[in-house]
Amino acid sequence: MNYSKYYPVDVVNGEGTRCTLFVSGCVHQCKGCYNQSTWSLTAGQLFTEQLEQQIIDDLNDQRIVKQGLTLSGGDPLHPANVDQVLALLKRVKRECEGKDIWMWTGYLLAELNVKQKQVIELVDVLIDGKFEKDLADPSLAWRGSANQVIHYL
Ligand code: SF4
Repeated sequence: MNYSKYYPVDVVNGEGTRCTLFVSGCVHQCKGCYNQSTWSLTAGQLFTEQLEQQIIDDLNDQRIVKQGLTLSGGDPLHPANVDQVLALLKRVKRECEGKDIWMWTGYLLAELNVKQKQVIELVDVLIDGKFEKDLADPSLAWRGSANQVIHYL
């Protein structure tokens, strides 16, 4: 898996202070997407074991307390990303007590395959659906367009 950005301290992608990872790879091609540079699976840099460990350490760092981890992109549920995202989330749930997980995906919750559902079992808040330019509304919390749904799982 590749990733395009990692923010060890982030306050705009989910509730509270968070660590946020933007992965690379997205098939949805939404018109008006702000993250087109992340569409290619080869965009950005390789997601390494070192970065995975860094995320775990950042979540547990008490100097700046984090509410949890956010995964966005790109699409964390792109079939090519699912295995590595699942491994990361299992570590977060095992090693980072009390941290929640937020995720943005262009897929719909109702259309996920078996592997994608395994990931979602570890997610606390999922914002699903493609960005629809005609339904864009900057006043919406956590969503770019009105068709997207916030699922508190
Ligand atoms: S799902 Fe997100 S990253 Fe992918 S094209 Fe749509 S808005 Fe862009």
